[in-house]
Amino acid sequence: MAGIYLHIPFCETRCIYCDFYSITQWEWKDVYTDALCQELTERKNYLHGEPVRTVYLGGGTPSQLTERQLYRLFDTLVQVYTLSDAEEITLEANPDDLTDDYVAVLRSLPINRLSIGIQTFNDHALLLLRRRHTASQAREAVARCQKAGFEHISIDLMYGLPGESAAHWKDDLRQALALGVEHISAYHLTYEPKTELYHMRRRKQVYPVTETRSLLLFNMLIDTLAGAGYEQYELSNFCLPGRYSRHNSAYWEGVPYLGCGAAAHSFDGKSRRWNIASVKEYTRSVQHGAPYYEVETLDLTTRYNEAVITRLRTRAGLSVDYLTAVYGSRLAQYCLQQAAPYLKSQKLQLSNGVLSLTREGLFLSDAVMRDLVWV
Ligand code: SF4
Repeated sequence: MAGIYLHIPFCETRCIYCDFYSITQWEWKDVYTDALCQELTERKNYLHGEPVRTVYLGGGTPSQLTERQLYRLFDTLVQVYTLSDAEEITLEANPDDLTDDYVAVLRSLPINRLSIGIQTFNDHALLLLRRRHTASQAREAVARCQKAGFEHISIDLMYGLPGESAAHWKDDLRQALALGVEHISAYHLTYEPKTELYHMRRRKQVYPVTETRSLLLFNMLIDTLAGAGYEQYELSNFCLPGRYSRHNSAYWEGVPYLGCGAAAHSFDGKSRRWNIASVKEYTRSVQHGAPYYEVETLDLTTRYNEAVITRLRTRAGLSVDYLTAVYGSRLAQYCLQQAAPYLKSQKLQLSNGVLSLTREGLFLSDAVMRDLVWV
């Protein structure tokens, strides 16, 4: 089984914290959609005939595509890949794009899961982050999608926002749970270099939350969602029983996927390929048959490092038997040796041959994983 990722790099406006590749020039959307269809067709053999189990339209803002552009994409997907085995087809959407008419269009396509970028229900924070929607628009959008029959809805939340108090976060979590969605992704705000937010912090126009506040908000997240019946199946991802994201889980398990579009990555089990992060260069190169990507063959240690970083973030953890079988006993032993201080300090646990992060370890996951990778 395999997955397909389609990058839709268009946003109406840019949020000040975001470092994903996207542009605001709409005039490129038609020609880009054509190039995407061409790439999908030309790379049919990348997945070696593996049936496609998941499709994910991410961005950018896929809900900025028009009805015609979406139909064009899905016609190609169905013609080239059939999608008859696809269990999960997700589209990322911004709340303000989800009008009655647009939701009806989405329902008429094979899309069966929506990932809606809400981020917070605090209107002041939404304004600061330059999101395009209000809290009430977000609530209405989710209700509209549910009413239209979408059962699989995920929402994105962000915490650790400048000046965020425990009371604000508690209210965000309360409102998120009130929506009755099956999946919640919650990410701590990061100050990515080159973003406007990063420069605002340097100019002392915004202040990051303290480490103590971050930990408090993180613990509130885990406790509140666990109390409501959500499983934390990955560091930032929570779901009602069995409602995990098939597509993202496949990434973490190292399942091959085809990524099409500007800045999209692909993985075939042995090599990683990434497309140029420029709509202009990408579309022109696809049209003219010129190269628009780079490929890296992944050596054993690179694949080991990727396995450590992705699997350790999951509740399923990192099996020592798996490490030994796939990467050899030398790397498995190295992993256990590097893990020893963290096992002692109870940031990692080893149970039935599976290494996983404890609650404390989850909060410090970057530091733990940095020490387990091969350098
Ligand atoms: S957060 Fe989403 S909507 Fe905002 S700029 Fe980034 S990709 Fe676009």
